[in-house]
Amino acid sequence: MKVLVKAPAKINLSLDVLHKRPDGYHEVEMVMTTIDLADRIELSLLDEDRIVIQSHNRFVPDDQRNLAYQAAHLLKERFQVKKGVVIGIEKTIPVAAGLAGGSSDAAATLRGLNKLWNLGLNLDELAVLGAEIGSDVSFCVYGGTALATGRGEIIKQLPAPPTCWIVLAKPFIGVSTAEVYRRLNVDKVQHPPTKEMISAIEKGDFNQVCSSVGNVLEDVTLSLYPEVAQIKDQMKRFGADAVLMSGSGPTVFSLVEHDSRMHRIYNGLRGFCDQVFAVRMLGERHTLD
Ligand code: ATP
Repeated sequence: MKVLVKAPAKINLSLDVLHKRPDGYHEVEMVMTTIDLADRIELSLLDEDRIVIQSHNRFVPDDQRNLAYQAAHLLKERFQVKKGVVIGIEKTIPVAAGLAGGSSDAAATLRGLNKLWNLGLNLDELAVLGAEIGSDVSFCVYGGTALATGRGEIIKQLPAPPTCWIVLAKPFIGVSTAEVYRRLNVDKVQHPPTKEMISAIEKGDFNQVCSSVGNVLEDVTLSLYPEVAQIKDQMKRFGADAVLMSGSGPTVFSLVEHDSRMHRIYNGLRGFCDQVFAVRMLGERHTLD
């Protein structure tokens, strides 16, 4: 028996860090949305009691470091599952890119194994389990658009943002999220207007969405990797309506309303960057079918 699950990437329309908590985590406020750029997870029942990861991507670990492995392991332990699973991961989401690829693979594995192993859990229960794996996993369990607070695991659903194109470009570098947070000086950041972003999404006001984007991690990553700033400049010059780095980077995305400009930005960036995508936002939350 096999279950196929889609694991979409996310972008941060805004990312704010409020303070560092006594437990070492940062208190964040993030508006996130899933996009139509996805890994494919294939889960196959295994009679032997073990978890096997299969992936052709050399940047993806095939052992317990893989977040999809950790998701399967957590469910096995918590619900005393004696069966095993082969987790096939077909990567499309660039790795260590600020697009939560690993977290989304873990979330898709939770949703898929819930079905394969007949666990009968709902999305809220899977999201609570997801938080034990990583701060972005809870959001990825639901997908859609949401405000994430706490260390990222408290999720409040928002409506789908106004329709537009998302053009993403990732330079040939990987960024360590932990390193970016280490270098962040929380007392000196310029906070993005999160409330304006939420009201823009609620009103469906594309211009206000564009004027409210912001990411406090951007300056840190830009100071480490000047090529990220160059991509931002290129996108602006080609006519993007808004340009922002996602997560801790290095992926930069533009919001673009008109098809012709989307093509101009996409083609312009392809000569400059190894991974470029033009996709739509998904809008809707996942369902358990
Ligand atoms: P985030 O935005 O949540 O910090 P990211 O998009 O920047 O995540 P990932 O693509 O999740 O980064 O990869 C970060 C690291 O996680 C990789 O270097 C890789 O070693 C490890 N990893 C573990 N599981 C996976 C997975 N299933 N896919 C990709 N990377 C994984």
